[in-house]
Amino acid sequence: MAKLIDGKALAETIRHEIASNVVDFYAQHGRRPLLAAVIVGKDPASHIYVRNKIKACDQVGIESRSFELPEDTTGNQLLESIRRLNESDDVDGILLQLPLPAHINKTRILDSISPQKDVDGLHPSNVGLLVQGRASLIACTPLGVIEALRRYDITLNGKNAVIVGRSDLVGKPLALLLMHENATVTICHSKTTNLPEVVSRADIVVAAIGKPAFVTGEYIKRDAVIADVGINVLKTEGEVVRIFGDAGKKIEDFRQGKSVLVGDVHPDAYAKSSMYTPVPGGIGPLTIAMLLRNTLVAAQTRLKI
Ligand code: NDP
Repeated sequence: MAKLIDGKALAETIRHEIASNVVDFYAQHGRRPLLAAVIVGKDPASHIYVRNKIKACDQVGIESRSFELPEDTTGNQLLESIRRLNESDDVDGILLQLPLPAHINKTRILDSISPQKDVDGLHPSNVGLLVQGRASLIACTPLGVIEALRRYDITLNGKNAVIVGRSDLVGKPLALLLMHENATVTICHSKTTNLPEVVSRADIVVAAIGKPAFVTGEYIKRDAVIADVGINVLKTEGEVVRIFGDAGKKIEDFRQGKSVLVGDVHPDAYAKSSMYTPVPGGIGPLTIAMLLRNTLVAAQTRLKI
């Protein structure tokens, strides 16, 4: 029977470990690691994400400051805010909440974050180090996937891993991490032909697409491991019924106005796997735990220099 990889419980364990490391850090340096979270505009989902990240910092004793900038902030003004955070001795990590308003050039801003404070692991210097297998700050979601696989003793050495999705945030860095763990990695995307056939060869399937319940049972080899990265909020009753059926908790929740989430993998496909990460409660909580760890690592690394 398919076994659930409990990302929520795992994240809790990791948070305890980080909290204990933060106590050691404080004993050694007389201060706590500090994360600066920068958010531009009023996107409600982004504000919820930042609030959750700040709450998570609090829980492990990491200090945080949030910088909320108005929607009409110019690229140059944002660059100036980042410059100040780069130069501030108190700040260990800088988190720039995405997406940015359309008038701001995201790449230019991400490139301006000091690589040593780049807790999202998106700076080209950190990505380059990841290619060479010597990065200390790596994108949080791919790290969360690797952590889940590692802590559930899933062998990667010699396995076929197929990742659907090639974003800079998830697919590409995860491909490198899996390759460094000696998996044989295939990366798929929207132009891949015969996708179900390619995915069905995988011992480990990662779905990072952004399409609700896209990967169905026909893609999954029996006893494969599934890491479902996607987080999709279902918008119509028809979608909820198509995926979860017209009776049960999900459709009741939807009818009561509660938000119903689904991953990029159809929940029915989990049954064919040996282990899978659920949505919610899989990779999502681990992503936040990895942000906390990156902040601690950034603080430790800065103070060693
Ligand atoms: P992007 O939109 O940046 O990338 C999506 C990728 O999926 C692209 O490479 C795209 O291909 C590919 N894709 C889209 N449609 C298809 C298709 N029909 N067949 C095959 N491949 C396809 O998304 P992200 O990587 O940022 O996020 C992916 C998912 O993960 C989203 O649901 C997001 O919400 C979730 N997420 C979850 C996190 C967590 O904490 N658990 C954190 C970050 C993201 P192409 O390149 O050809 O366009």
